[in-house]
Amino acid sequence: MKYAIRTRHDLMSQEIRNHLKERFDTLGLSEDNTEPDIVVTIGGDGTLLDAFHQYVDRLDMTAFVGIHTGHLGFYADWLPHEINALAEGIAHGKYSIETYPLIEVRMSKLNAEPQKYLVLNEATFRLASGTLAVDVYLQNELFECFRGDGLCVSTPTGSTAYNRSLGGAIIHPTIEVMQLTEMASINNRVFRTIGSPLILPKDQTIKLIPTGAKKCILTIDHHTELHEDVTRLDYELSGKKVQFARLKASTFWNRVHNSFIN
Ligand code: NAD
Repeated sequence: MKYAIRTRHDLMSQEIRNHLKERFDTLGLSEDNTEPDIVVTIGGDGTLLDAFHQYVDRLDMTAFVGIHTGHLGFYADWLPHEINALAEGIAHGKYSIETYPLIEVRMSKLNAEPQKYLVLNEATFRLASGTLAVDVYLQNELFECFRGDGLCVSTPTGSTAYNRSLGGAIIHPTIEVMQLTEMASINNRVFRTIGSPLILPKDQTIKLIPTGAKKCILTIDHHTELHEDVTRLDYELSGKKVQFARLKASTFWNRVHNSFIN
């Protein structure tokens, strides 16, 4: 089995990396940063999001596991003192694979080829300054004309992240849906939006058409990009999924409980 380790740049994470690498090498695993079967991240959820985007082109051949060295992470749910058990479990194949849905975003701009992104948590769309104005289409039918700070489209596993702060529902990842939440919509006698999160089933699409030509910000998980002349954004659930190696008997609801209640 081939492994890669992605590490946050703090001393503690680096030390755990050295220890884990030693264990893996003793157990006969080989390090391969180009074509790993398993990617272990050491740091936080941001480190795991980073690793996901690094290996986004080989998701069907790579599984992820996260060790957290700061506060408890949602994806990074292994503790540093558990790494021997983690290394042995991986080496002896004592894990199951859980797959989670992803969202595909296609951004179209004037005089440019559309750009595609795969999203593990969420994609948000905002303006660099001022009020965002977009027409929101569901299944290619105009649903509402949104005015406000922005819009967030999240995956089920991303539903516990930014989406949750925006008042969205937490979605179990076996339910293949995407969720659209508003960021401070303007609602008055002139402008009106639905004002509540919308959950769309697999095979349904969201389309956003900006109605003011300004600089806008697209975030894809932890990446932020500034764009001009965006003419359209399309969102749908991807045919691809992310794989997580599960060695503990922890369920999605355990992780939600441990992250937010305990
Ligand atoms: P960061 O360091 O700002 O972390 C934000 C927090 O989000 C961390 O506590 C992290 O553990 C948590 N998180 C990330 N993914 C999660 C998930 N799926 N479920 C529950 N918690 C999760 O930034 P980062 O570590 O680079 O992470 C980027 C993510 O931060 C984005 O994908 C977005 O979801 C989140 N974020 C949240 C807010 C907010 O809640 N107001 C604002 C911006 C970004």
